[in-house]
Amino acid sequence: MGDALILGAGIMGLSTAFALHEAGQRVTVVEAGPVPNPLGASVDDHRLIRHAYGDASGYMRMVEAAYPVWEALFDAIGERPYAETGVLALSDGAGAGEGWFGASRRALRGEGHGVEDLSPDRLAARFPWVRPEGVAEAFLAPRGGVLMARRIVAALARHLEGRGVTFRRARVRQADPARARLLLEDGHVLEAAQLVLAAGPWAARMVPGLAGRVTPSRQIVVYLEPPAELREAWARAPMVLDLAADGGFYAVPPVAGTGLKIGDHRFSMAGDPDDPREASATERDAILALALPRLRDAARYRVAEARACYYDVSEGERFVLEPLSPRCAVMSGFSGHGFKFGPLLGRAVAAALGDPVRMAALPGWAAGGAAGWDVAA
Ligand SMILES: Cc1cc2nc3c(=O)[nH]c(=O)nc-3n(C[C@H](O)[C@H](O)[C@H](O)COP(=O)(O)OP(=O)(O)OC[C@H]3O[C@@H](n4cnc5c(N)ncnc54)[C@H](O)[C@@H]3O)c2cc1C
Repeated sequence: MGDALILGAGIMGLSTAFALHEAGQRVTVVEAGPVPNPLGASVDDHRLIRHAYGDASGYMRMVEAAYPVWEALFDAIGERPYAETGVLALSDGAGAGEGWFGASRRALRGEGHGVEDLSPDRLAARFPWVRPEGVAEAFLAPRGGVLMARRIVAALARHLEGRGVTFRRARVRQADPARARLLLEDGHVLEAAQLVLAAGPWAARMVPGLAGRVTPSRQIVVYLEPPAELREAWARAPMVLDLAADGGFYAVPPVAGTGLKIGDHRFSMAGDPDDPREASATERDAILALALPRLRDAARYRVAEARACYYDVSEGERFVLEPLSPRCAVMSGFSGHGFKFGPLLGRAVAAALGDPVRMAALPGWAAGGAAGWDVAA
């Protein structure tokens, strides 16, 4: 039996630990914070999974591959913290079909995914919380939903610990990819046959070669309480994506006891993941300004909470899954869209370690290259 060290107990590190453990390896996960770590990119009430991906069709196809791997993980952990909501995409018509909205709709139809166009009138009739003024086009895709991120991370960690994976709470000072070693802040050195570095927004500190390629980005999320008469409709709502090249917003419906959350997909490319996480009034208001024009009775929503999260952004939002040595791989650059792929990427990294042919194919596939690579095999 081989052994492996994993730095980071976010969804990437835990998913890789899961796959390596299933493959019979003895696994140790090293994590500086508690598990789940509320400061990590993986930990909030929810993360979205959806096929709508603009013109990034490699990632759209990867979503199809991700679903069965999620199901296998849910079977293993004995719960299914997932709510299928469908996807409602909105557009103000700018870009005349060339933007994210048009590209997503074309790609979805091209691959045989069901997409229902909604006129602004039908939109308002079906979803009473939408303010249709200013919406030129909308479509509804039935698949896609909300992964209960914190619950998943907690359940997966419990599952792994119960099956003999070792969790070590320690801060890593330095990683040595060539020797698959971690030097801890307390002076201890850990070594294994294989090493995986999955440090989320702290990645560039652990892997100097990532500096300049991957940037931590402070992102604000705002939790809202809808007016009482809209609560029931919101509880049955799809996720809302109103994205454009220069931003837009997303809304996560309040499923399974979670809150209604809004955020944006513009990258601040600023801040340090060790900074305080309280959002300023200016940060909060910038998110509200994007979302409130789309909500009927917007003034009657109450802000329950606004806070900052961090993720690591790479050029073109392309994932960085790369070998650093024959014994070490790094997982980074998830650019605010990695959670949905966690178990799939973990399985891919586990399969590639020790298999030079797979390892050579890993970076291009993970970067969204459409070339099929049957990682699930
Ligand atoms: C606001 C927001 C919204 C998002 N929305 C979505 C979405 O809708 N859909 C989607 O698919 N994805 C989404 N994402 C992205 C997704 O959550 C991330 O891509 C994913 O969680 C990254 O996981 P990770 O394991 O790489 O990082 P993390 O969860 O950050 O895990 C890294 C871990 O490494 C530990 N660590 C770092 N350095 C050290 C060290 N030196 N020593 C020991 N431990 C260390 C950290 O403590 C941390 O726990 C979103 C992210 C954010 C922040």
